[in-house]
Amino acid sequence: MITTIPEIKTTLPGPKAKAVIERDAQVVSTSYTRDYPLVMARGEGAAVEDVDGNIFLDCAAGIAVTATGHSHPDVVKAIVEQAQKFLHMSGTDFYYEPQVRLGEELSAIAPLKGPHRSFFGNSGTEANEAALKLAKYYTKRHNVIAFFGAFHGRTMGSLSLTASKITQRKGFGPLVPGTFHAPYPDSYRRPANHTPDSWSAECLRFIEDQLFTHVVSPDEVAAVMVEPIQGEGGYIVAPDSFLHGLRELTRKYGILLIADEVQSGMGRSGKMFAVEHAGVEPDIVTMAKGIASGMPLGVTLARAEVMSWPPGTHASTFGGNPVSCAASLATLKLLRATLVRNAAEVGGHLMAGARELMNKHRLIGDVRGRGLMIGLELVRDRESKERATTERDAVVKECFKRGMLVLGAGRNAVRLSPPLVLTTQQADTALEILDEALTAVEHDARGAHLPPTQD
Ligand code: PLP
Repeated sequence: MITTIPEIKTTLPGPKAKAVIERDAQVVSTSYTRDYPLVMARGEGAAVEDVDGNIFLDCAAGIAVTATGHSHPDVVKAIVEQAQKFLHMSGTDFYYEPQVRLGEELSAIAPLKGPHRSFFGNSGTEANEAALKLAKYYTKRHNVIAFFGAFHGRTMGSLSLTASKITQRKGFGPLVPGTFHAPYPDSYRRPANHTPDSWSAECLRFIEDQLFTHVVSPDEVAAVMVEPIQGEGGYIVAPDSFLHGLRELTRKYGILLIADEVQSGMGRSGKMFAVEHAGVEPDIVTMAKGIASGMPLGVTLARAEVMSWPPGTHASTFGGNPVSCAASLATLKLLRATLVRNAAEVGGHLMAGARELMNKHRLIGDVRGRGLMIGLELVRDRESKERATTERDAVVKECFKRGMLVLGAGRNAVRLSPPLVLTTQQADTALEILDEALTAVEHDARGAHLPPTQD
């Protein structure tokens, strides 16, 4: 049982971590993006122990995945029990009850009226690929619209919609034809003459006045895919009015609305799905990440009438793996019992604390998010909002040095995406570490381009 979090005992990386990293450099793809040298040995709740015995407070959750914390005993038990029965049978060619039960459970919590059907894959990108194919198949239309800043995955279909970092697209073109992008209503960076709602309306107008007028006929658009809260793009929350407007617009033209809840779903936002905050019902919702506490699983859920493609049109050998389904059923039970509520409560506390840090650290330009999906956008100047990109990277590293795991999001935001089991006390520890890390970075940069802190 890990009792003290965090606890740093060696220099980082320690000797054992260093050895693993050296071996990794010989054999593992160079495309991975490791911000700091964490080599995990085991985890428990919101604690991660590295191979040298250092203990970290986990505010990254394996990129917003381990919803129930690391190795929650109920999830592990469900995995072991299922593994002892059978590991695989392929739910595409055979039947097994855990996949059916998961379909029923997901239908019970879906943010759209039923009846529903679910397609089971292994990851977020696969869930979005399935959604894209389904939308095209159902509508018999071939174009799709997504948003600048979006991240929907890295396989070719999803990547065509992804418009987050250029490194993710560069060198891989041509991508799938018939994909168009519109501006996403970033309230923090809206033009000065706009309110968040009027800026949302302007972004929606772009779709009708520009895209539908000049480049693509709306009756040839199958779907609009949207993250209700942009994740990789910087933890940017779409105003409710934007999601409502998008729903109206898609309905007007017979276009399907796909909510990518891969990162924002499964309780992370303080509701089971982030679209519920706006009360907007999509036609298709995609899920992955937190859905099975770390076991690979992606789900595309749609109205049953939409998901009526015939046998053979889409399938996956491993999709809906029975062990992943068992992990997901245990995860959903925990989410429904306490963890969605905990995400709202502890998330509120963490957000309030992060907002308070703004009084001390001028480097923080904006604090936003919902539940335990919180972004701190760092800027060199609050007036010009110049992006503090190198400072953001430095803050992430300073947090690591002090025993806290966080990740960046977008060009200059720090994201807090801890397991949903985070306690108020752990949230306070996170705020203390963040405070120290920001102080260290501001201290290093003082005399350069950063304004002094106010302490
Ligand atoms: N959609 C969103 C909103 C995501 O945040 C991600 C991953 O970060 C994906 C899709 C892709 O998921 P995966 O990495 O499991 O393919």
